[in-house]
Amino acid sequence: MKELIDKIRAEGIALNEEVLKVDSFINHQVDTVLMDRIGETFAEHFKNHGITKVLTVESSGIAPAVFAAKHMGLDLVVLKKSTSKILGGEVYQSTVSSFTKGTRYELTLAKKFISPEDRVLFIDDFLANGQAAMGFVQLMEKAGAKIGGIGILIEKSFQSGRKMLDDLGLDVYSLARIRKMNEGMITFES
Ligand code: 5GP
Repeated sequence: MKELIDKIRAEGIALNEEVLKVDSFINHQVDTVLMDRIGETFAEHFKNHGITKVLTVESSGIAPAVFAAKHMGLDLVVLKKSTSKILGGEVYQSTVSSFTKGTRYELTLAKKFISPEDRVLFIDDFLANGQAAMGFVQLMEKAGAKIGGIGILIEKSFQSGRKMLDDLGLDVYSLARIRKMNEGMITFES
């Protein structure tokens, strides 16, 4: 998506070979006009996938996911990052390793917000090693719900997440794909 790639070129900061800082338009300050266009683009791509619900992970996925859900006329469910396992039967949980923080958390979804009839679109800001997305996949397995697709703003194609999700046969649609990064340098897939 040209607008997103242009924005990354203008304001994205490659901190090293692995981490891209996008604080000025996604993670801290949010460019709402760009997020609206991103939401529209996801809605267009997934319009014939029979999606019933949009899911994301707090907190950076929320802005683009709100706009995607709005353009699709659907509810958005935000998966929580809980620090502990919750006992009792009211939630589904799966353990995820955080890419940026190096910590672990329990991706948590209240059972009342998902059903086996749902076909879900998962939206996230980055795809790196696919841990967040795999946590989502496991939650859908527990809930017996179907996966209609995965929408990513920025895929770092040199990390392992894309292959992992492709191997599961999932429809992964990334708006910007980075082939290589280094301090001050970003190369996109053509
Ligand atoms: P994964 O679970 O695919 O390994 O990593 C995805 C998650 O880690 C995303 O939800 C995102 O919040 C965070 N993340 C991964 N790579 C980056 C990055 O280069 N920059 C930022 N700001 N966040 C990232």
